[in-house]
Amino acid sequence: MADFGLLCVHAHPDDEAVWTGGALARYADEGARTAVVTCTWAEGTVRAAELERSLAILGAGEPRLLGYADARKPESAPGRPRFLDVPLEETIGRLVAHIRDVRPDVVLTYDGYGSYGHPDHVHAHRLTLAAAEAAGYDQLYPEAGEPWRPRAVYLATIPRSVVVSHWRAVFGDDPPAGQALPGVPDDQIGAHLDVAAWAERKWAAMHAHESEVGRGASMTLLTSLPEPARAQLLGNEWYRRVSYTGDAEVTLG
Ligand SMILES: [Zn+2]
Repeated sequence: MADFGLLCVHAHPDDEAVWTGGALARYADEGARTAVVTCTWAEGTVRAAELERSLAILGAGEPRLLGYADARKPESAPGRPRFLDVPLEETIGRLVAHIRDVRPDVVLTYDGYGSYGHPDHVHAHRLTLAAAEAAGYDQLYPEAGEPWRPRAVYLATIPRSVVVSHWRAVFGDDPPAGQALPGVPDDQIGAHLDVAAWAERKWAAMHAHESEVGRGASMTLLTSLPEPARAQLLGNEWYRRVSYTGDAEVTLG
């Protein structure tokens, strides 16, 4: 794990813990360099302070805030544009600067559905793929640092079988026909990470986001699940895998 770098790109404070908290804690413990870029909420807000505590628990350094506004919460960044509305040319350039600064082997973000469909998550996914590719070109964004090419991007998702079994546990029935569900068919999962030994750290990092506990969709869902189901979700992370090396050389898990 010598000089292995891992960078997570998330839309909101709390997603780093919910979606990639196990990977962050595990890789930090194994000696990797880990960092998190968060696209929305500005410095000085309650949620930025909560993010700082979560990152400390996960061993992921200081917040790297892009400081744009949440699609649905203008108070997240007073006077700043919504993350969704900022031209890609600007956001790609800013993310490229973080990628070239951190020099990650692996970049983590949401899957193409934003893990569960939030428009900021979908946008962060698209931005991350574009920036991970752009970061390797010396012709692009020369002012943003020395070119750096990550070896793979991993997209946080959930196997469809797991989503359906938890749906049954919560609602007592199968999802209705036509219901848009998170996740992908099980055979599209590219990596499974066993983070059971880091589940408590992940849960603690999630609870650092006090203002979201009981209000945020992910936190509310997780706290409402029966204990075995919650343990399964906290102790496992699943990813789709986009490789830039053309082989299985870079593996998580
Ligand atoms: Zn989010």
